Amino acid sequence: MASQEKIRINDNTKLLFDRAADFLKLSEEGRNLLKTPYRELTVQMPIRMDNGELKVFTGYRIQHNGSRGPYKGGIRFHPSVDIDEVRALAALMTWKTAIINIPFGGAKGGVTCDPKKLSIGELEKVSKSYMSKIDLVIGPYRDIPAPDMNTNAQVMAWMMSEYGKKHGHTLAIVTGKPVALGGSLGREEATGRGCVYIVKEACNDYGVDIKSSISVIQGFGNVGSNVARFMAEEGSRVVAVSDVQGGIYNPEGLDITALLKYRDENGSIAGFPNTTKVTNEELIELPCDILIPAALEGVIHADNAKNIKAKIVIEAANAPVSITADEILKSKNIPVIPDIIANAGGVVVSYFEWVQNLQQFTWDLDEINFKLKKRIVKGYRDVFDYSKKNNLSLRTAAFAVAIERVIEVVKLRGWG
Ligand code: NAD
Repeated sequence: MASQEKIRINDNTKLLFDRAADFLKLSEEGRNLLKTPYRELTVQMPIRMDNGELKVFTGYRIQHNGSRGPYKGGIRFHPSVDIDEVRALAALMTWKTAIINIPFGGAKGGVTCDPKKLSIGELEKVSKSYMSKIDLVIGPYRDIPAPDMNTNAQVMAWMMSEYGKKHGHTLAIVTGKPVALGGSLGREEATGRGCVYIVKEACNDYGVDIKSSISVIQGFGNVGSNVARFMAEEGSRVVAVSDVQGGIYNPEGLDITALLKYRDENGSIAGFPNTTKVTNEELIELPCDILIPAALEGVIHADNAKNIKAKIVIEAANAPVSITADEILKSKNIPVIPDIIANAGGVVVSYFEWVQNLQQFTWDLDEINFKLKKRIVKGYRDVFDYSKKNNLSLRTAAFAVAIERVIEVVKLRGWG
């Protein structure tokens, strides 16, 4: 992705906010407050690498708005992480938690690094150093981080352990932990599972039969691989998936169970038998009913949106459709289910994990999945109904629902 495109993510988020704020006739005061993050922390992280060299990494934790509850948001390890990206993702978390109506605000964190170039020991050092530098602004009732791109349950375990050294054993300090260490059943696959609950709703709303549908998924990490698994379980024919190295395509459909095994054994999906290679750019334009970008932001843009053949686009990744692409898809009557509802399943089960940790009590998987479905479907229906009632796109409706909920509590608190 071009760096210019990345720089725009924060501007884009503000522009989307403004559209909904215009519709709501939100006051200047309200706009100023909700467009500014509450707190931004940048930290220096000197790490002694395996070869003896000292490398200085930069980390961020940005808390956007905490009116509805403690800040909540993932931590991303990626070479392209910068403060502008983290700002945008923090704001998106405020809107996401409001739409699904869980008692959290929005935050995001990140470290500018390439985890693929770190040894496991270096990764542990980076994770622990990051936690030791941000621990002064977080807490189980203040800000609760979680995994995001290139961070996982192991990273959360290291971070929880580091926090405990100074503050005592605190399960509820991060979510997305390993189940053996206070994690919730169902958390790992929750974003993918929640996304597919929404795909089913959207298919009903837009007249697509999921059982005879063809789907294409970009990204085969935590979100993409689980989306692929659950789409296949729903009977959809998943014809193409991709990872950072490129995609694989078989118009007859991919055996997702076999592909997951292949990926685990080979570290990549590349070379999976009976498939042809496609680039990530080609994959976006493949013929299908349901297109699910589940990797990076900005992958559907002004240049390729016109070539999209899908009947519905579901934003499993954060901000994969640019603003211009959104307009182009609208003119082609292709509905886009926005990220702030489509990928909210992870934070819903993170909320359940936090509740279980605070209560020192665990729920079984059926209960978690039942509660996840109920909450995420309600969030989607709130957005869908609002969009129909007010003749708005799903994205503007999603922002409007969220802004209304946040501004209500901001006013109740007396703006501070
Ligand atoms: P991940 O690191 O587990 O997987 C990312 C996937 O994207 C991998 O398959 C990787 O190979 C692929 N990828 C990386 N760069 C790419 C590129 N240039 N082109 C194509 N594919 C590329 O990350 P994840 O947790 O699955 O997150 C994916 C997206 O979903 C991100 O936008 C993230 O913010 C969002 N998200 C994740 C969660 C969660 O619970 N993990 C929750 C909400 C939103």
